[in-house]
Amino acid sequence: MGLQSLIDRLSEWDLPMKDKVFVAGPCSVESEDQMLETAAQLAPHEVTILRGGIWKPRTRPGSFEGIGVQGLPWLKNAGNLLGVPVTTEVAKPLHVEASLKAGIDILWIGARTTTDPFAVQEIAHALQGVDIPVMIKNPMNPDLELWVGALERIAQAGITKIMAVHRGFSIYRENLYRNQPIWRIPIELRRRLPGLPLLCDPSHICGTRKNIRLVAQEAMDYLFDGLMIEVHCSPRTALSDAQQQLTPRQYADLLKKLQRPSSNDHAELAVGILADLRKEIDAIDDDVIALLAKRMEVVAQIGAWKRHHNVSLFQPTRWDHVLHNRIQMGLRRHLPERFVRGLFEQIHEHALNIQGERSTNGGPRGLKSINAGVVGKQQLVLSGGRS
Ligand code: PEP
Ligand code: MN
Repeated sequence: MGLQSLIDRLSEWDLPMKDKVFVAGPCSVESEDQMLETAAQLAPHEVTILRGGIWKPRTRPGSFEGIGVQGLPWLKNAGNLLGVPVTTEVAKPLHVEASLKAGIDILWIGARTTTDPFAVQEIAHALQGVDIPVMIKNPMNPDLELWVGALERIAQAGITKIMAVHRGFSIYRENLYRNQPIWRIPIELRRRLPGLPLLCDPSHICGTRKNIRLVAQEAMDYLFDGLMIEVHCSPRTALSDAQQQLTPRQYADLLKKLQRPSSNDHAELAVGILADLRKEIDAIDDDVIALLAKRMEVVAQIGAWKRHHNVSLFQPTRWDHVLHNRIQMGLRRHLPERFVRGLFEQIHEHALNIQGERSTNGGPRGLKSINAGVVGKQQLVLSGGRS
């Protein structure tokens, strides 16, 4: 049976919420006082679920690895004070057992665990026959199938209340974000599984307090069902993720400024100006696709020419020129460099694939077998070409 049919809609979760889900609370449960104080300061504000990590997956050894089972009642009591369900991260069957015993209401599977199908399967076994909602964060690496695989494993264990949480993807390069959001991945997840509740965790995407509000707003604009945000009564002294936790007051300010658009996809809204603009977009996209197809036809002709003259498909000098030139063209029309670069990298990659596939009569020829060197005089001829 398809995953979609196994999962309950958000309306069936019976959560204390208005239009959106807000999971708030510290990265880690540290002490009873910290939990009660955080809950007391959160009490006047909108909180749907209280979070707190009991077992912390740390990148390096020697840092705070969580308070362990003794913290479970502190989390539960803080949730009772707020009158909301509580959630904690489980990475092992042992965590599942202890959480169930302590009356934790909702479990979440962290990004590192989602990356490991063995670990997810063990948790699924531990959940067999148990009725508890589970939130599943995306894996560390930008692999949608791995995320879907984890959702499937938990659904196959009989869990029907499942939420996905987008917390960004780990990449090697230094970046504005601790974890790159790569929005197209959760957007594709939503396209495939429209009924699956989807939250965004801007705290772990940002890694610092600075851009949390912007990312939270982006998630609302992409019609996420809610947010998971790390909130601590004293972020400065937090034992984990101190840089990214908000004070309850900062959290309240974020919620106040958050615009919450509802789905604008309803047919009744697609009237008047919006309908006209959409028609215009449809026509432009038709032109864009037709032009891209035409460009690839020319690419194929150039491929035939290269084959005939035994010239390498990849021409580094020409490619360098094309990329720089197109970026300049884009900038003159106010298109950001990153966008134009990404677009032309994809176009170039597809062009090389087309030329590679048609470069032998006998079948596909990978780029590996292609002489990527510069071919003297012929390179100059090609520099005037179109691929
Ligand atoms: C967390 O929520 O504190 C956490 C460890 O998250 P992630 O799995 O997204 O890194
Ligand atoms: Mn954290």
